Amino acid sequence: MLVSNNYPLDYLDMHYMCNKCKDTGFIGTQKCSCYKQKLVALYYENSELKTILEKNNFSNFNFELYSPHKSDDVRKSPRKNLEDIVSKSWNFIESFSSSDENMLFLGNSGTGKSFLSYCIAKELLDRGHLVVYRTAETLIHDLKQIRFNNSDELEDLLINCDLLIIDDLGSEQITDFSKTELFNLLNIKLLKNRKMLISTNCGLEELLKNYSERISSRLLGEFTLCKFYGDDIRIGQNIKNRKY
Ligand SMILES: [Zn+2]
Repeated sequence: MLVSNNYPLDYLDMHYMCNKCKDTGFIGTQKCSCYKQKLVALYYENSELKTILEKNNFSNFNFELYSPHKSDDVRKSPRKNLEDIVSKSWNFIESFSSSDENMLFLGNSGTGKSFLSYCIAKELLDRGHLVVYRTAETLIHDLKQIRFNNSDELEDLLINCDLLIIDDLGSEQITDFSKTELFNLLNIKLLKNRKMLISTNCGLEELLKNYSERISSRLLGEFTLCKFYGDDIRIGQNIKNRKY
């Protein structure tokens, strides 16, 4: 009767968007992959990241901003150095689900650390991973919320997201609270194999001086170090864009 009235034969059967969890979002007590996809989309839509990532992504990457000339104090030209870092970043992306690699971007401001962090964020978000971006300052603010206002959801997000990007470590006000809480967060994420990408303008010595030995040894021991250098590309780009 259904077919003769132009309805499909299975018209009266239940149809689920997700057959794995029958649209409940859970398989047993585990979150279904469809649930995570929704979470990623929702998070992405509602974060300031979405607009940032429209401009800051690999398709707008320009190696020409980096000098191909090597100075005496370094092994590689800024361009070659960055090419190597970008290739490490692609490795990080490609092996994201199978490795427990974390990345630490070091270098002066304007050398492209944040830009590359955004590129990586976009790539991973597009592949369905939950990426959370925080500056060190907003992260410390969040950690206060968690500690003093019991923001469990926020804590869950920071700890269990697939990648936490902490931008500009060292720019925050460094206090005993921030050092303790930062260490706890790093530690728990390392234990749970939840990845991090941290960037900082601090040199290694400054990191060692500003943070407890416990934090520095985690950063130096558990992260792949990438040292950025070269002229400030933001200044370079501004000069180029200026019309005389
Ligand atoms: Zn599902």
